[in-house]
Amino acid sequence: MLIENLLDIIYESVKLSLSYVTSPGKRVYILYLFSSLLLAYFVYKKSNIKIPFTSYIFKHKVWLGRSAIIDYAFVLFNSFIKVLLIAPLLVYSLDMAQHINDYMVHNYGRANLNWSPTSLTVLYTFTIVVVNDFASFITHYFMHRVPFLWEFHKVHHSATVLNPFTQYRIHPLELIINNLRGIFIKGVATGVFLYLANEQISLITFLGINILNFIFLFFGANLRHSHIKLKYFNFLEYIFISPYQHQIHHSNDKEHHSTNMGSRLAIWDYLFGTLIRSKEVKKITFGLGKQEDRSFTTFWKNLVNPFLRLAKVV
Ligand SMILES: [Zn+2]
Ligand SMILES: [Zn+2]
Repeated sequence: MLIENLLDIIYESVKLSLSYVTSPGKRVYILYLFSSLLLAYFVYKKSNIKIPFTSYIFKHKVWLGRSAIIDYAFVLFNSFIKVLLIAPLLVYSLDMAQHINDYMVHNYGRANLNWSPTSLTVLYTFTIVVVNDFASFITHYFMHRVPFLWEFHKVHHSATVLNPFTQYRIHPLELIINNLRGIFIKGVATGVFLYLANEQISLITFLGINILNFIFLFFGANLRHSHIKLKYFNFLEYIFISPYQHQIHHSNDKEHHSTNMGSRLAIWDYLFGTLIRSKEVKKITFGLGKQEDRSFTTFWKNLVNPFLRLAKVV
């Protein structure tokens, strides 16, 4: 019975991993990979690179090197954690939203706002993205500043080459923290809007996902984890994090350490004094530094080393 259950969970995990390229809610959805490829071609043309485009994109090391294989292993392993531990928690988001709404109705009566359903929908669509983005920045900020969390976040930074799947190279502990954060933020924001809109909320969507997320994913989100140096206009990099700015975040140079921690918006980094713009950095080497990279050369080391280091410290 136990083995049967385990096999079921493994089957669901493999199915979940493979579904990433066919789900519009995932960054590596085939359409976003394709739009990123077009943007990469634009960068290639603009940069006057001498090698053929295919060699520029499909470098063996980037897609099949040791670092990339560890990324794929994390996609699979984290899907296992999602099926096993996170999926059962997702319902709590709506539960929490309903409770918040009920609590507010009970204590303050029905909200009698004279806002049109359209303005509430637009506001909800914006709010959920901005609040989520801020929460993700704060979590990331602590991942870098709190030594115990940094040990686990190092796994994401131990990638010595970046490809779109590096997005999923995170330690399971970070995965759980990020998902709990997502459930909490979605629950609270949806609860407040359920109340404000008398339980009639809706979201502006495209392909079933928040339209703002679609725009972000369609316009090159995948290039963040890549060697394609897509930069924005200087003024725009104060508002939105460009792919190259996230690549700077992956630099092993101490000066770039703990900078550009925003996900979509750069304003949080600007406010916290951690923003670096593309024009300030000419060359990047990805990873944690030669010495430390040696501790993360296999999937197993990435999974276990953070615990071992903690145990040593304790
Ligand atoms: Zn980081
Ligand atoms: Zn990253």
